[in-house]
Amino acid sequence: MGHEVRIKNVTMRFGNTTAVSNLDVHIKAGEFFSFLGPSGCGKTTLLKLISGFLDPTEGRIEINNQDMQGVGPNKRPTAMIFQNLALFPLMTVEENIAFGLEVRGVGKIQRRKKVEDLLDLVDLPHTRQKKVTSLSGGQKQRVAIARALAVEPSVLLLDEPLSALDLKLRKHMRVELRQIQQKTGVTFIYITHDQGEALTMSDRVGVISEGGRLEQVGRPTQIYNDPQTPFVASFVGENNIFQAKIIGQRNGRFLADTPMGTLECVAPAGFEPENFKPGQAATAFVRPETIRLVNGSGVQENQVECLVISQRFEGAFMTMELETKGDTIIHIRQSNNGHEPILKPGENTFISFGADNTLLLATPCDHQTKEPLCPN
Ligand code: ATP
Repeated sequence: MGHEVRIKNVTMRFGNTTAVSNLDVHIKAGEFFSFLGPSGCGKTTLLKLISGFLDPTEGRIEINNQDMQGVGPNKRPTAMIFQNLALFPLMTVEENIAFGLEVRGVGKIQRRKKVEDLLDLVDLPHTRQKKVTSLSGGQKQRVAIARALAVEPSVLLLDEPLSALDLKLRKHMRVELRQIQQKTGVTFIYITHDQGEALTMSDRVGVISEGGRLEQVGRPTQIYNDPQTPFVASFVGENNIFQAKIIGQRNGRFLADTPMGTLECVAPAGFEPENFKPGQAATAFVRPETIRLVNGSGVQENQVECLVISQRFEGAFMTMELETKGDTIIHIRQSNNGHEPILKPGENTFISFGADNTLLLATPCDHQTKEPLCPN
C-alpha cells in the first residue's frame, strides 16, 4: 500500500537559482498526484528531493510521517522511473525486472514468481526471455514500470516517462498507468509539462510556475474549471484574456469594463472581497469552447458583435478568430457536429458567453501582450 508524502515549506536553491520556492503540499497515501508545469519550473528537482538525490535548502520532506532528512535514496521507500527509462539494454526482460530483487538477496524462485506476477500486471506475458532491445517503445515502458514496482516501493516517482512515445501510444499508456496505480495502491507522484497527461490520469494536480512556485492544487476538474491564479488560467487549457476594470456588482456577479464593453463575470471560489472593489484593475478569462455564435436578436449574456477573421478546421472541432469593434481578437472553438453555423472570413456575427464562464481574477494584465502580470 502507498504512503503519504508531506512536502513541508521546501525551498531548493542552486547558487542564485531558486528551483523550488517554499513549496508545501500533502500528497495522500495511494493517490495519483501530478505536478504540472512548464520546462525548467523545478519539477525534476522536486522528484530528486523526494527520492533523496538532493537535500532541500530549507524545509523538510516526510514520508509516512517520517522525516527523510539524512535518509539516503536507497533507504527511502521510493522508486523512480526516468524519462529515458534507463533499462539495461544487454539484459533480458526478466533480468531487468529482477535486478533490484537480486541486489536485495531475494532467492531465484521468488524472483521468478515476482517477475511473472509483474509481467501479468503490466500486461506483458511471454516476454520474460526477450532482450529489451527487441521490444517496442510501449513494451519497454511496461518493463520499466515492472522493474520499479519489483522492489515494492510505497511511493513511485515518475519523471515524464511517456514523453518518448507517439501520441496514440501515450494516450493508451495513460489509461494503463492509471489502472496499474489503482491495482497496486502505490502512491504515484508524476511530473509532466503535458496537461493532457496530468488532467486525465491524476486524482489531484499541483500546478507549478517558474521558480518552483506551487500555484494551485486540486482535482483535474477544479484546475480546469476554477483556476485560482492567472498562471493556472493561462497555462492549463486555452483562454481568451481581456484587460478589465471592476465597475460594480449585479446579482452576485461582477461588472467589468473591457475593450469590448461591459462584461458580467464571476470571481473565483474563496475570493478576497477587498481585491474586487470598483476601480481595481483585473483580468477576465473566457475559454474558447464556452463562446457561442448567436444571431444578435434577444438579450444574451455578454453579447458582443464581431467580424470573422479566419477559421480553421481541426477535425473534431473548428476554431475561429474574430475581432470585436474594440479591436480585440477572440478565439472560439465549435464542435464539428454539423449543427453549428459556418461563417466565412469578412462576415459579421454576434457571440455570447455566459457570465459563469467569464472568470475575473484580481490581477492586471499587460496592455500589449495581454499576459497577466503575475505577482512574484
Ligand atoms: P524540464 O521539464 O525541462 O526537465 P524541470 O521543470 O524539471 O524542467 P528542473 O530540471 O528541476 O526543471 O530545473 C529547475 C531549475 O533549476 C532550472 O533553472 C535549472 O537550470 C536549475 N537546476 C536544476 N538542477 C540544477 C543543478 N544541479 N545545478 C544548478 N542548477 C540546477
